[in-house]
Amino acid sequence: MPPGAEQNVVVLGSTGSIGRSALSVIEHDAGRRLRAFGLAAHSSVDLLVEQARTFQPRYITLTCPDARARINGALSGTRVELLDSLDGIIRMVQAPETDKVLSAIVGAAGLEGTWAAIEAGKTIALANKETLVVAGPLIMDLARERGVAMLPVDSEHSAIFQALKAGQPNEVRRVILTSSGGPFRGKTARELANVTPEQALKHPTWSMGPKISIDSATLMNKALEVIEARWLFDLRPEQVEVVVHPESVIHSMVEFVDGSVVAQLSPPDMRLPIQLALNYPDRVPGPCPLLDLTKRFSLNFEPPDRETFPCLDLGYEVMRRGGTAGAALNAANEAAVSRFLSSEIGFLDIPRACRAALDHHNFDPRPTLDALWRVDAAARQEVRRWKP
Ligand code: NAD
Ligand code: MG
Repeated sequence: MPPGAEQNVVVLGSTGSIGRSALSVIEHDAGRRLRAFGLAAHSSVDLLVEQARTFQPRYITLTCPDARARINGALSGTRVELLDSLDGIIRMVQAPETDKVLSAIVGAAGLEGTWAAIEAGKTIALANKETLVVAGPLIMDLARERGVAMLPVDSEHSAIFQALKAGQPNEVRRVILTSSGGPFRGKTARELANVTPEQALKHPTWSMGPKISIDSATLMNKALEVIEARWLFDLRPEQVEVVVHPESVIHSMVEFVDGSVVAQLSPPDMRLPIQLALNYPDRVPGPCPLLDLTKRFSLNFEPPDRETFPCLDLGYEVMRRGGTAGAALNAANEAAVSRFLSSEIGFLDIPRACRAALDHHNFDPRPTLDALWRVDAAARQEVRRWKP
């Protein structure tokens, strides 16, 4: 892609937190180089129709059958074509006009569209970390085979991606992912036993979708990011570390063999890593606030509390094991978060249910994609039946 060339972007998950931020970036670009070519969502009909009317994409896809029936004549007078189901997503991402796919569906449900886009050789802007947690080695092999660039959108991975440019791959000692610590930083396990979904959904520095907000409260989000970093940057498990940094200004760091640590800083705003991934390799002015260094402020660091937040160590264990472990952990976590959000299990039950599903799954060190889906289904089933 020549610098500054126009890009047709497909946004998978356009009605979510990342999807809406991406459309704000595209709106700010004002048609200079970014065009929303396709938008997909599960069931938010009204918002998707509103987005379709504003951005006039070629296609939109609704994956939930009931939602599709509710759309009626809402697109009349536009040239937008309505597609449905996974087939619709595949058709959008594989269309010859599509240049880039922003993968921002939540959960393992985001894997198939991302896979189809890589198969078709499209550049990926990856927000859906679960794709790499479930199938990291298979996805990265496919991307290498098709010559596809995997551009991170997760703020930590975007920071690492940028910092890695300061040296050669064999000069990297370790990457250090920062974590805000979530809404329960400093609490004890006893204090967390009875927290409600409402309390867990209140993140101190980021505004995000419900699933990742709970993941941030349990530190499962950091666990998933550790695994994501390993596969995305082809690191050894011992090269991936986590530090708690409550201000969320340093988004992550890379330490090189000479002891230099290179970091990326900016106010916490997901539009920045989205904008970089959509415009890459170029940098352009955008809508994000700038870091104000004229005011007094401090940056703090502390080690994560692994006892109170055992999800983090589950992530480390899964990163080391590879194979089917990521699919089991991810599916178990999705099912456990859903049960927590409907108040069927407690906050501290999330890591317990994940531990049980990990221990019971049939580990395979070199699974096929089909084998990963079987592990995913079995782990979900186990957590749905799991009793505290
Ligand atoms: P969200 O819940 O706000 O939005 C999810 C989107 O996916 C919605 O558009 C929804 O319609 C769609 N969707 C859900 N299930 C679907 C299905 N089965 N088929 C098709 N579409 C489906 O989630 P989010 O916070 O925007 O997160 C999206 C992804 O980005 C997640 O993988 C998350 O880990 C990652 N991420 C998010 C943030 C953030 O700040 N929100 C930061 C880093 C990474
Ligand atoms: Mg992140």
